[in-house]
Amino acid sequence: MKKYFSERYDELVPYVPGEQPQDRSYVKLNTNESPFPPSSSVTEAVRLESQKLNLYSDPESLELRKQFAAVFGVDKDEVIMVNGSDEVLNFAFMAFADEKRPLAFPDITYGFYPVFAKLNRIPYTEIPVKDDLSIDVNDYIGIYKTVVIANPNAPTGLFLSLDSIEKIVASNPNNVVIVDEAYIDFGGQSAISLIRKYDNLLVTGTFSKSRSMAGARLGFGIANKELIGNLNTIRYSTNPYNVNRMTSAAGIAALRDNDYYMDNCKTIIANRAWTTDALSALGFEVLDSKANFVFARTDKLSGEQLYLNLKENGVLVRHFKLDRIKDYNRITIGTLDQMKTLIEKTKLILEGK
Ligand code: PMP
Repeated sequence: MKKYFSERYDELVPYVPGEQPQDRSYVKLNTNESPFPPSSSVTEAVRLESQKLNLYSDPESLELRKQFAAVFGVDKDEVIMVNGSDEVLNFAFMAFADEKRPLAFPDITYGFYPVFAKLNRIPYTEIPVKDDLSIDVNDYIGIYKTVVIANPNAPTGLFLSLDSIEKIVASNPNNVVIVDEAYIDFGGQSAISLIRKYDNLLVTGTFSKSRSMAGARLGFGIANKELIGNLNTIRYSTNPYNVNRMTSAAGIAALRDNDYYMDNCKTIIANRAWTTDALSALGFEVLDSKANFVFARTDKLSGEQLYLNLKENGVLVRHFKLDRIKDYNRITIGTLDQMKTLIEKTKLILEGK
């Protein structure tokens, strides 16, 4: 109904999250969650903290930032904690992009970027990725725009080297370059090491993937203190208590258990290699992923048909109807058992059984 809805949002087409069906249990490989539960100290920290829910959370997330800074080798004032990294992306668009500093991002990338751009009425250019779906770094050199790059990119999983990222950052000194590292822990190299060298670099990340906390909503931004200050101006102007008590306690405990999560990443990387080989053996083309998912297509069946048949067989993957990638499916890497089920079902579907 449009009667009361502001015309400001006439152009807005909301983001469509991956399915979270409640009707039956699926082998759920569609929203890049971790298949591993949080560590036991995280669940215990949440239980204890829940007894203090009558009190507001710390708007500065001080303890969390201190713990975070120690693990990530940055200063606590170089960090902002947020309600899922989607929130810091929105804050960053609000803070660092406008008519004079329009946005630029690849045409094939995280679907929330155009949504946040439209929500904030920021003009944007979608720069086509190459035929092999990789990003051409030259397209971003000195473009006088606020650049957003997911690295590894989604849904392709393709990774840009730190050298390439540095070239983009160095060549756009009057604009902020946002590097969205939601999937960095699965084999990529982080750009965090560059934040002291470049005052226009913002790195964003999340506890949703490698740290098994998608349901808790915890994300972060890392940049020099000035950019973090700008982001806090936006945060305090929207939702100062954006990180709730239980999520904050969970985050602190997860950071203390960092080895557990980094070991899980190694397992995911191994399972990704296994899945890539198994899909390739079935005739799939599988992009070289550095994320906790693979992007794969086959000539034998359309992307949509495979998605539908897998769903009928109790396996959920993610299909995008976008023209350039409609032949593909994005398949989250889960446990080896889950991946074996995916391969078994896919084989039967291809055999027409
Ligand atoms: N960036 C990318 C590239 C993503 O795929 C996602 C997950 N959908 C996010 C950011 C946001 O993740 P979250 O809000 O759960 O931290």
